[in-house]
Amino acid sequence: MTDSDLLEIILTGIGVSPGICIGKAYLVDVEGVDIVEKYHISHIHVHSEIKRFKLAVKKAKNELRTIIENTPDAIREHVDILEAHVILLNDKLLYGKIIETIEADFINAEWALKKVVFSLKAMFLNMSDPYLKERAIDIGHVSDRILNNLVGSEKINIATIDKRVVLVATDLSPAQTSQIQLERVKGFITDQGGGTSHTSIIARTLGIPAVSGLDHATKTICSGDLIIVDGISGNVIVHPSEQTLVEYEERRIRYEIRMAALDRQSHLDAVTLDGQRFMVMGNIELPEEIVAVLDRGGDGIGLYRTEFQYLGRPDYPCETELFEKYKDVVEVMAPRPVTIRTLDINGDKALDRPVESVEDNPALGLRAIRYCLKHPDIFKTQLRAILRAAAYGNVRILFPMISGYEEIQEAKAMLDTASDELKKEGIAHNRNIEIGIMIEVPSAVILSDILADTVDFFSIGTNDLIQFSLAIDRGNRQVAYLYNPLHPAILRLLRQTVDAARAKGKKVFMCGEMAGDTLHIPILLGLGIQEFSMNPNAIPLAKQTIRSLNVEETRSFLCDIMKEKTAQAVMERVQMRFGQNGRNGG
Ligand code: PEP
Ligand code: MG
Repeated sequence: MTDSDLLEIILTGIGVSPGICIGKAYLVDVEGVDIVEKYHISHIHVHSEIKRFKLAVKKAKNELRTIIENTPDAIREHVDILEAHVILLNDKLLYGKIIETIEADFINAEWALKKVVFSLKAMFLNMSDPYLKERAIDIGHVSDRILNNLVGSEKINIATIDKRVVLVATDLSPAQTSQIQLERVKGFITDQGGGTSHTSIIARTLGIPAVSGLDHATKTICSGDLIIVDGISGNVIVHPSEQTLVEYEERRIRYEIRMAALDRQSHLDAVTLDGQRFMVMGNIELPEEIVAVLDRGGDGIGLYRTEFQYLGRPDYPCETELFEKYKDVVEVMAPRPVTIRTLDINGDKALDRPVESVEDNPALGLRAIRYCLKHPDIFKTQLRAILRAAAYGNVRILFPMISGYEEIQEAKAMLDTASDELKKEGIAHNRNIEIGIMIEVPSAVILSDILADTVDFFSIGTNDLIQFSLAIDRGNRQVAYLYNPLHPAILRLLRQTVDAARAKGKKVFMCGEMAGDTLHIPILLGLGIQEFSMNPNAIPLAKQTIRSLNVEETRSFLCDIMKEKTAQAVMERVQMRFGQNGRNGG
């Protein structure tokens, strides 16, 4: 049977990275107990099924032992969790019960595992003792490990895919997405995720079409199916008809021609009709991405998310490794500014090693500046590397997730210590750099008048600011419909931040995804945002949009829309006044 004999299916999700691609699907994971195959076995197969289960447990144990042996001394104390997992693997409640279930119900090992784990987790979750409750998470981890060995599924290794495909996954972590090889992967779609998750941000940086929040794509699509991914509308077409294929091929070509035309103008400065120049900078995750920023006409790096150098490895990078990477970026970009954000680890970018404790709400947990202040050695290593790189160009430092005054003081004290040490050691560095903070926690907005005294600039991180102030998990597709930067509450928070900074003569930038959406640019100009930073692929259109606007006009427009009561009303007014500005390339 060919794709053309099959019925066309349209799935609708959230377009998280614009563009259109057509290609063969490649299912990259079999994660999750839900998609376990269930079947009955005859009594003569019970013995071999139990043997298969025991072998999977043995492999899981060996894997854990290897991880334990390779855990660096600095985080040795976390080995306890893994030791507990090894013990759990042979626990009567789990191990014994699964064997009993295979024998009694004549079912395959995966199904027995699912049944036992389900009731065991429920039992722990119902306990009132928080410690025992948390054991449910351990049981989940242990059962996933056994399951992976039972179904023989490799951990997704995106880096080794050797065909030109469209990835189809339940979810992709930011670390996995950053391994995507552009020559092999045309685009990707996921069941989970929302528009401002880090996975989506990386897709936009890579410039590949992506759709998230599709719910059941992994259940509807098989590897090898022909699919169309429309990252602009959020539609995915499975088994497209001839006619649909022709229509989308034409759309794809039109989209690429439009983008190429924009690229040709991207080196023109972003000067408004009334003659004001705005800097349009690029956000990068990896040093290699500076090429895209320069190609797209970026005026510098407004956000260098440094955490990606720490992900997917068992150890921490040393000062020399960090320094060399930062220096490369700084030297290539000079004299343009490079805004290096200190480690924003955890949240959805978890380190690939045992965590200190299980966090129910990682986005609100020990991440970013909190993590760094708790681990002074790791923090100081990074600060020393940044100060050393600053001797080679134009560096600004940016502290993430600041929620109060003390955090800035502590971070600055640590920067001074790092600088004093370098001075004593006679190592070249530059302490005379601008210091900024991310405004992404509502308390930082509320305190912005006080915080402005202590720094040179604010950089507004709308991705988290919206998440925290509207109480919307940025990676959760169920609430993605509520995630709206034009929410009147968000506009008020932005205005308060800009006003506070300007009253103290401090600069205000924006590096959240809001800055890269052309629909928002008239509002941001009206508010008084001075510099925009976005994923490199959004730069040409943003510059073109700025060139089409008049700042005075956006200011008076802003006064009007601040009176609106809903995000919908604000959006309609912007669209009516300024059009779509080629939003999302659509
Ligand atoms: C933000 O929160 O808006 C931001 C730019 O930081 P990140 O997306 O890395 O959390
Ligand atoms: Mg953030």
